[in-house]
Amino acid sequence: MVNKSNADIQYDSPVLIIGGGIAGISTAIELLDRGQQVLLIDRDEERNFGGMANEAFGGMLFVDTPLQRLNGIKDSKQLALDDWFGAAEFSTQEMQDPLAKAWARAYVERSGEDVYDWLKNFGIQFFPIVHWVERGDYGFKEGSRGNSVPRYHVVWGTGYGLTQTLIKTLINHKNKHNLSIKFQHKVDSFLFSGAKVIGCRGSIEGDQPAQTFQVNSPQVVICAGGINGNLAQVKKHWDVETYGDYPENILSGSHPYADGLLHDEISNNGGSIKNCGWMWNYASGVKHPKPEYPNHGLSLMPARSSLWLDAKGKRIGPMPLVTGFDTHNLCKVTGQLEGQYSWQIMNYKIACKELAVSGSHLNKAFFNKSWLGILKVALKGNEEMVRWLMSECDDVVVAGDLSALVGNMNQLEALDIPVELAQVQSAVHDYDEQIQRGLKFTTDDQIRKIHFMRQWRGDKVRTLKSQKILDEKAGPLIAIRTRIISRKSMGGFETNTRSEVVDQSGIVMEGLYAAGEAAGFGGAGCSGIRSLEGTFLSLCILNGRAAGQTIAAKLNQ
Ligand SMILES: Cc1cc2nc3c(=O)[nH]c(=O)nc-3n(C[C@H](O)[C@H](O)[C@H](O)COP(=O)(O)OP(=O)(O)OC[C@H]3O[C@@H](n4cnc5c(N)ncnc54)[C@H](O)[C@@H]3O)c2cc1C
Repeated sequence: MVNKSNADIQYDSPVLIIGGGIAGISTAIELLDRGQQVLLIDRDEERNFGGMANEAFGGMLFVDTPLQRLNGIKDSKQLALDDWFGAAEFSTQEMQDPLAKAWARAYVERSGEDVYDWLKNFGIQFFPIVHWVERGDYGFKEGSRGNSVPRYHVVWGTGYGLTQTLIKTLINHKNKHNLSIKFQHKVDSFLFSGAKVIGCRGSIEGDQPAQTFQVNSPQVVICAGGINGNLAQVKKHWDVETYGDYPENILSGSHPYADGLLHDEISNNGGSIKNCGWMWNYASGVKHPKPEYPNHGLSLMPARSSLWLDAKGKRIGPMPLVTGFDTHNLCKVTGQLEGQYSWQIMNYKIACKELAVSGSHLNKAFFNKSWLGILKVALKGNEEMVRWLMSECDDVVVAGDLSALVGNMNQLEALDIPVELAQVQSAVHDYDEQIQRGLKFTTDDQIRKIHFMRQWRGDKVRTLKSQKILDEKAGPLIAIRTRIISRKSMGGFETNTRSEVVDQSGIVMEGLYAAGEAAGFGGAGCSGIRSLEGTFLSLCILNGRAAGQTIAAKLNQ
């Protein structure tokens, strides 16, 4: 052993998991199921056990499930694979990112049994209507493709309910005597014997004076999340060619502990960290009314019937921006705009019916598993959330007419470019005139898309039919200033489908594994540049379970 410890505290465990998010929890459950002894450490406090999945809405992509069939959806693994590769836009060279592609195939092949069925065994249920997100702007097999059919299964109880169920499963496991969990333990370096990882070192947060610790373990699984909570890392890896210059006004929608510290540590020791420029960010970020960390933002799911304007108030085009088709493209277009922010104009009726905020706690009906709540939102819209945004969010302004609205928009703090009333008037009047023509004769692509969306029952209930902006009965008018919000890391530790980390020559690093967002959800980027959405939580589970199975097989040899 090369590393002799002078740490205050020593732990020894046959398996160490770093990170108690959904990837780490799934890894731990798999290992306990297989009779292994596990030490799980996390730098956060116990009350945050579960990591970012606690905040997730809980949408999960599955292929050809019984629930899809009940909804009359014809899906197949081949169709899903075609959609996945079309969306990912992987390099056509097979040797480019072979492990990422292998994980994509593994997901389509195995997620039904290894994630959907696995979760159902713990009593997790899904909302009966499967949602249709990321349809793609074009159906091209070669790129810009999305989901050909609805695949987004929403966990009843949201990501929070999912995570808490898995935590209960873990801590009440029949082999719980084999599990030890330490919170507020921050890992900052690894121990090596030659090329083999044999443990880690770190410090205990919150302790005064800070105590140090060392873990001696021949099997180390990194489940410490991505890099997108650290805006310095986001900036370092920003893909300028695709998204324009790094937006200095970017918001953060990922936890600050997703900081990339362990990525750098392993990279410096020869590990392969790839594709960190592949990120799943969103174009509709607003300032969080109750920020918990610097630049904390909320990601809105924009109203389909709102008009998306540039900083001056001109409608963005020629293809109007509409959510639900291609998130990557929304970031690409808004990132290239002057000022790198945009405006969304709507009225109160549109906002209540269509606007949503991504996450668990703000989607109360799903969070509380309340059928009455779902019915209320379907009939009356989400008035409570809209009123909250109107009164608390700095990026939201309200007025009775367009001229006053533009006046209020121009009063917003840190506004770089004045909004021009004439531009806004022209955009709104043109759009309303297109609505007036009726669906048969409209040539507006946004209205055509809204019409198309309403053909699917999951969208019909939350999308207005033909709603003018300047409808006197639907006011007041609302304008929301939106900008890019950082969210998920789609690159990271390069892993094979056994979740083993490879080095910069592609050789497995003995004793080292990675799962979840740390691994770019498998293979350092199994979604390529574009996710089909709802793939993140489920890939964390699939990666984590694979790590647990690989380690258990090795230790049982
Ligand atoms: C608002 C929101 C909504 C979302 N909605 C969805 C959705 O609907 N569907 C979907 O698929 N995905 C969604 N996601 C994404 C998904 O939640 C995450 O990708 C996923 O939870 C990541 O899990 P993880 O276990 O890989 O990492 P994390 O949850 O980030 O967990 C990593 C853990 O490692 C710990 N850690 C970090 N560094 C160290 C260190 N140095 N030492 C010790 N511990 C460390 C952290 O404290 C943390 O607990 C959403 C995310 C957010 C924020």
